Amino acid sequence: MTFSQQYLQPGDGPVQISEKELLSRIKELAQQIRSDYTGQMPHLICLLNGAFLFHADLVRALDMPATVDFLQTSSYGAGQQSSGEVRLVKDLSFPIHDRHVILIEDIIDTGLTMDYILRYLQERGPASLKVASLLSKPSRRKVEVPIDYLGFTIPDAFVFGYGLDRNQQDRNMSFISSQK
Ligand code: IMP
Repeated sequence: MTFSQQYLQPGDGPVQISEKELLSRIKELAQQIRSDYTGQMPHLICLLNGAFLFHADLVRALDMPATVDFLQTSSYGAGQQSSGEVRLVKDLSFPIHDRHVILIEDIIDTGLTMDYILRYLQERGPASLKVASLLSKPSRRKVEVPIDYLGFTIPDAFVFGYGLDRNQQDRNMSFISSQK
């Protein structure tokens, strides 16, 4: 089931999502996941590096049996534009065959990274495969990808903080911002 999307004000204004708004939305997503996976043990795969705080707060808010793993790809390098090339940097540590997998991503921009990873994971025979993304920039999409649990839809702006980097910095900010 696709969780209802929460839209930020569209337009050219700066994106600003406070720690309080982030945690409250993540709590809602956790409740939705808990109800969708009743009686199951979801396997939450964190896409490093950007999703590390979202993943940590989401699994903490889940309050149900769950397992975790980590996968790392690179596509951006030090720039702010997607290269379109996705490279696997760190593979999974545990098999996902017959597992109910939820892939946890920080932001879906062009969709190229997610499209690549979904194909990669699907080949490993999970019982089910869903996507949770904290942010989405639909106006930038080059490939359509399903998002089952979405935190916030944002306009086309480069954002950083709460796991997302600006030239590898600012990942440790407790909120998300597009302002320099
Ligand atoms: P995509 O393949 O174009 O969808 O890009 C996805 C990846 O690009 C994300 O996992 C982020 O690492 C990075 N990315 C995309 N937009 C932003 C942004 O606004 N700030 C920081 N990283 C971003």
